[in-house]
Amino acid sequence: MQRKKLRAVIFGPQGCGKGTQGVLLSDKFDVPIVGSGELFRAEIAKGSPLGRIAEEYTRSGCLAPDELVNGIMSSQLKSMDLSRGFILDGYPRTVDQAGFLQRILPINVAILIKIPDEVAVQRLLSRIQCPKCKTVYNTSEARPAISGVCAVCGGALKRRDDDTEDAIRTRLVNYHFMTEPLAQYYRQKGTLLMIKGDQSIEYVHKVMMGKLAKLGFGV
Ligand SMILES: [Zn+2]
Repeated sequence: MQRKKLRAVIFGPQGCGKGTQGVLLSDKFDVPIVGSGELFRAEIAKGSPLGRIAEEYTRSGCLAPDELVNGIMSSQLKSMDLSRGFILDGYPRTVDQAGFLQRILPINVAILIKIPDEVAVQRLLSRIQCPKCKTVYNTSEARPAISGVCAVCGGALKRRDDDTEDAIRTRLVNYHFMTEPLAQYYRQKGTLLMIKGDQSIEYVHKVMMGKLAKLGFGV
């Protein structure tokens, strides 16, 4: 049987581990991981009309509207060779965006990593980052060898300024309101793959690989 190419979206609340899991999947399947943040920055760097509007939104800290996000993703994704497959991280974030994506670049699996809010809060509160090289650590998994010191560059680790409990809870509310409805959208399309993320990195990866294999995705 011909193995299906992975054309995936990976989503879930902050702290669910989708960044780490996305990298593991991308290694296994040898497909690029496409982060919406990078595409956004690339469009801004290009200085296109859309990029200039995006820059204003980034500067103001306001959430970019769907039309702008869709326009940038469309412009950037068209210029990439994704014929071997891909994993999209950070896009789509709303049902409107998902509908747009399905028209320009149909996906065949949407991986949702689910964790309870309290686990997300605890994970994010224990997250520390190197201000120099941006490597992220936490106090349970991915712990630096020397406490408080970045294993990559030796920088002094600290909690991110936007990782206060209030800010984390606000972001979770936004996630439930705007992004979580994607689960229903993809369930109706028959492409939803849900994984419980409240486990070790290795275990979540193993479960994910098993479920993908059952759906006919091969490495
Ligand atoms: Zn560092």
